[in-house]
Amino acid sequence: MLRIDLSALVANYAFLQRSLGAVPCAAVVKAEAYGLGAVPVARALEQAGCRHFFVAHLCEALALRPALDRRSTIFILNGLPPGGEGEAAASGLVPVLNSLEQVQAWSAEARRREVSLPGVLQVDSGMSRLGLSAAEVGRLEAAPDLLAGIEVKLVMSHLACADEPGHPANASQLQAFETLRRHLPPAPASFANSAGILLGPDYHFDLGRPGIALYGVHPGIDRSAPLQPVVRLEASVIQTRLVEGGTGVGYGHVFTATRPMRLATLAIGYADGWLRSLSGRGYGFLDGTALPIVGRVSMDSLTLDVSAVPAERIGYGTPIELIGPHQTVDDVAGQAGTIGYEILTSLGQRYARDYVGEAGSAAGSSPVPEEFERTERDR
Ligand SMILES: *Cc1c(COP(=O)(O)O)cnc(C)c1O
Repeated sequence: MLRIDLSALVANYAFLQRSLGAVPCAAVVKAEAYGLGAVPVARALEQAGCRHFFVAHLCEALALRPALDRRSTIFILNGLPPGGEGEAAASGLVPVLNSLEQVQAWSAEARRREVSLPGVLQVDSGMSRLGLSAAEVGRLEAAPDLLAGIEVKLVMSHLACADEPGHPANASQLQAFETLRRHLPPAPASFANSAGILLGPDYHFDLGRPGIALYGVHPGIDRSAPLQPVVRLEASVIQTRLVEGGTGVGYGHVFTATRPMRLATLAIGYADGWLRSLSGRGYGFLDGTALPIVGRVSMDSLTLDVSAVPAERIGYGTPIELIGPHQTVDDVAGQAGTIGYEILTSLGQRYARDYVGEAGSAAGSSPVPEEFERTERDR
């Protein structure tokens, strides 16, 4: 059972919005809002005043569009697949244009429809992942007709190392972004993901673009931001047994009982996103007692050593905390040798998701509901 606390989500949004001051805060809800469910998450944030939503794919945008207010904007970070322009335009979606080919295809769609279509220009300021290179920005500047029919809503770029505040790439990307923008039509700018927002106002520009911090996970090793946990995960015991010392446990017998032990099998495995790298690492919790995972994580189950709790306390159906007050997403990520992002997005579709908490309470409304407040000229 994956429990998602919408009040905590909204409180985190309010914290990020406060950090941004007068700059509006968007929400990145790609990959089903990092595994938490894009529609309920986006709706709760919309009620809290959020008006700008980012997904990765056209299909994600199409699925989200009917759930949101007509006036809320949905941006598609990966841009459009060739041939997807008609569908995107018909649904009022805003693609991030990452290449001259995407610019040309979007411009052609606008001409076909004899309208102007909103688009975002992404520039590569140094991550080397997505966006127009400096040379391509130069070609756009030399041939502004390439943008005919495109209403540039936003110029954006993405930080590679924002989770390391002292990393020199942050300042150099900032400088590169400032420079590249000057060669493009004046438009509001967006640069900062969660970690970028925490870097401070120099990185904020005109629209914040957080994902992970909304979901209560710290983007870097600095855990000082007052983020509230959004996710709780419990799995049920489906069998218990007593084993003798020397008994092998699970696939490969990579664990052997060192003494008589009471074991409990939980109905969760790597097919549910509880990563196989957590084999023999980490804990479940019952009544605050840490119960070590023993042996390999299977596809649909894993085994805990529950010798530390009284036998009568644990049986078929007993819920065991895996993410909650005793163990955060970050803790689990540390044990698995990965990052909180991968833990959250791995918690797949297999669980029942249970939404608790009031959506519309904590944040108030966004300072700028419809348009961006600051423009190129204000900076
Ligand atoms: C995923 C993503 C974000 C959000 O990043 P977080 O680190 O989760 O805040 C922002 N911008 C782009 C381009 C992204 O791909």
